[in-house]
Amino acid sequence: MPRTLVTGGAGFLGSHLCEFLLNKGHQVIAMDNLLTGTIANIEHLQCENFKFIKYDVTEYIYIAGEIDYVLHFASPASPLDYLQLPIQTLKVGALGTHKALGLALSKKATFLLASTSEVYGDPLIHPQHEDYWGHVNPVGPRGVYDEAKRFAEALTMAYHRYHGVNTKIVRIFNTYGPRMRPNDGRAIPTFIPQALKNEPITVFGDGAQTRSFCYVADLVEGIYRLLMSDINDPVNIGNPDEMTIREMAEQVVRLTQSRSKIIYKDLPVDDPKVRQPDISKAKRLLRWEPEVDLEQGLRYTIDWFKTQRLSY
Ligand code: UDP
Repeated sequence: MPRTLVTGGAGFLGSHLCEFLLNKGHQVIAMDNLLTGTIANIEHLQCENFKFIKYDVTEYIYIAGEIDYVLHFASPASPLDYLQLPIQTLKVGALGTHKALGLALSKKATFLLASTSEVYGDPLIHPQHEDYWGHVNPVGPRGVYDEAKRFAEALTMAYHRYHGVNTKIVRIFNTYGPRMRPNDGRAIPTFIPQALKNEPITVFGDGAQTRSFCYVADLVEGIYRLLMSDINDPVNIGNPDEMTIREMAEQVVRLTQSRSKIIYKDLPVDDPKVRQPDISKAKRLLRWEPEVDLEQGLRYTIDWFKTQRLSY
């Protein structure tokens, strides 16, 4: 039975990953300092093959016994979170990645880094393929996240090349689904509660900026295939179905049958104007592509938010 550590295991993606790995027959250790994650995300996973450790992975990580896989998912991951937690974001991307890689080295484990489309910044190439080096403002407010993840990628490749660690880097594009923290500043977990309460939907800028949203179950399947592959270079995982943020707001209003009106607020600094993954590499090498269409995924997500009404 493989034994796997998931840092950030109580977060949105981390908790879905833990669940997926348990179903694949892994013993799973979730590690999280609960800064942005929550026990509620993993309560239903309690079983003899699952263990939760509350811990800050920027400190030295000690785990007794063998570990086969280390998946480093700990990080604030919404623009609001990393604006409010800039130092923690830099620390977990830099020091946390170093500790997680050190653990993987000492345990001879396979390591997977959760990287992000933010490494491409406000891209000048569209759609974004893995060979694009990006267009990042290092000193802007988003720089703490973008540069931490770029450093994390560099450190991961260094551990691969210098220490021979079997490393993987997934560049995750916008993902949504149940367990996103309501009102965490991201578009979908902000729009859905607003729509369910018939409050104004806050679109930033004129809403013409684009994103491409992937349902979480598709993302986790892609990550698992990458983990089991022999690929060491970065791979984009996301859904290439691109839309404007205004269209997303309209879609949420329609699916919730809400009376909400759209209002327009200032665009955050360095908000990328376009984003769409080129997933030809994942298709070719992992035989992966997303299967859940936006309307279905949004319906699952809206249904989950309806069960969380007391929390927003
Ligand atoms: N956005 C918005 N209203 C909100 C929250 C976000 O219009 O209440 C916009 C945001 O400016 C961005 C897009 O939605 O252009 C996606 O934002 P999100 O935070 O979900 O992801 P990211 O910016 O990291 O792609």
